[in-house]
Amino acid sequence: MCGIVGYIGNRQACPVLVKGLHRLEYRGYDSAGVALINEKGELNVYKTRGKVQDLENYMESKDVSGTIGIAHTRWATHGEPNNVNAHPHCSNSENLAMIHNGIIENYAVLREMLSRKGYTFKSSTDTEVLVQFIDYIRTTNKLSLPQAVQQALSQVVGAYAIAVIEKNNPNQIVAARKGSPLVIGVGEDEYFLASDATPIVEYTQKVVYVGEEEVVVINRGEELTVRTIANVEKTPEVKTIELSLSELEKGGYPHFMLKEIFEQPRTLANSMKGRVSLDKKHVVLSGFTNNKEKFLGARRIIILACGTSWHAGLIGKYMLEEFARIPVEVEYASEFRYRKPVIYPDDVVVAISQSGETADTLAAVELAKSNGAFIFGICNVVGASIPRNTDSGCYTHVGPEIGVASTKAFTAQVTVLTLLALCIAKEKKTIEEEAYLEIISELAEIPRKMEMILKNNDEIATLSRVFTYAQNFIYLGRGYNYPVALEGALKLKEISYIHAEGYPAAEMKHGPIALITSEMPVVVIATHAGMYEKVISNIQEIKARKGRVISIVTKGDKTVKKMSDFCIEIPETVECLVPLLASVPLQLLAYHIAVQKCCDVDQPRNLAKSVTVE
Ligand code: GLU
Repeated sequence: MCGIVGYIGNRQACPVLVKGLHRLEYRGYDSAGVALINEKGELNVYKTRGKVQDLENYMESKDVSGTIGIAHTRWATHGEPNNVNAHPHCSNSENLAMIHNGIIENYAVLREMLSRKGYTFKSSTDTEVLVQFIDYIRTTNKLSLPQAVQQALSQVVGAYAIAVIEKNNPNQIVAARKGSPLVIGVGEDEYFLASDATPIVEYTQKVVYVGEEEVVVINRGEELTVRTIANVEKTPEVKTIELSLSELEKGGYPHFMLKEIFEQPRTLANSMKGRVSLDKKHVVLSGFTNNKEKFLGARRIIILACGTSWHAGLIGKYMLEEFARIPVEVEYASEFRYRKPVIYPDDVVVAISQSGETADTLAAVELAKSNGAFIFGICNVVGASIPRNTDSGCYTHVGPEIGVASTKAFTAQVTVLTLLALCIAKEKKTIEEEAYLEIISELAEIPRKMEMILKNNDEIATLSRVFTYAQNFIYLGRGYNYPVALEGALKLKEISYIHAEGYPAAEMKHGPIALITSEMPVVVIATHAGMYEKVISNIQEIKARKGRVISIVTKGDKTVKKMSDFCIEIPETVECLVPLLASVPLQLLAYHIAVQKCCDVDQPRNLAKSVTVE
């Protein structure tokens, strides 16, 4: 959530910062701003409500010169999105400017203390309190900026990635992080900083991932120095990023989301590469192989996740229980972390997060870890906090997902969970050889079958027009298709702002059936695998109440097709893999309805990618 960028070097900073903000805009987009120090030593701060483009328009006739600067695209937590609350924020002395991603939890106490000392505040943000606090500590104790940052942060409760510049010292950026991501790009006589590597990759492949509670001092033309908040010196470890620029472009598609939906045949193949061997007819996951005894001795598996990843986790539960015969609990990380969950040392925790930075999941992982559980992470972003804080795991390898509503990361998470279930089941001998081999050969067919579904894109676009004005939707499925229904409903909510609910189809009669009228579109996943006959009865119940049925059926189906108002076919596959196929038309349906409604598909209202606040 929220994107931060910084630059110091020989180039003009502003174009680098603005381009970087565009790349990070998926993380937050309610306001944006930059702070630059020009050749005359003046600190210029420009900020505005709205998108990065609004900031660019606003800066058109302004002095944007300077070879040092910081910039921010906000996802408001404290104070509404407006010009004043936008970052950067300055100290009263106007000497310090700061950008911040995260939340300062004890900001109210600090603000009160600073007010008593004569500090005044322009904004409602926690960020302004922190920059003033740094200024206060600095002037009171006569410290250098890095020392003041260290001391201030040692008294701060919360999560942050910050970058501070000082008008009186145009040769230094001080940055720090705790709980929010921060990467430094190391160029020739220049440094970049950002929330992730996407703004950096254009200029350098060399990066340093800033560690928890570390403060980095970036002096122009000098080596980086890194110390912890508690002042322990650290040696920065320079890594090489593997990210290509083309992965950050729309590649001819109107939206990143559509590009990412269409990438799925390839990204799924990537998630399976080196892991599924068709010749040897087996599945290998090194994260499993190296920790076999943990999984085999597991009393139960706890899956921790949020949002779409939670839905993937639910599908994972069904597979792990069916094939590996281990009891699985799927928990919302945000709930798990704050109740008093029973965690045994022989529990295995599987933490799922696309960004690997989800604050709630990270905190839940820490809790499980401190209780002795073994932690396995499933993440997409390489080097992110969750993979760095887990005992083992595996990446989904789908490349950057920029559309805020997750698509390709979801299907890859389900794929990796399938592989994990197969690995454990094979080792525990809880799966029949025939079933094991059938799933492996079907997995290899999934990319091709997905291609077939994507060919229906135009048809789904046409269908979407009928539902542009719907106020509500219900999604139903049973067994493996129940989490698909949940995910389909979430996609629609996220990007089209239509209220949608997912239910296990049989639950309908226990309440939601009261909502069915001729106005209510009901999406039913009614594939041959997935309690077909039972779902047919559920469709009868909807039709008897004049609901409008959009069904997802197995290719060649006749019965459900006849009963449905609209029907989308998907190729046949084994039951546990149906979610990989059935979720694709639902992604397309949500996408096209949102486009018809002229919604901002890639950057939907109020949302942001990479939820680094709790
Ligand atoms: N808490 C800060 C604010 O509300 C930062 C939010 C963000 O991460 O964008 O301004």
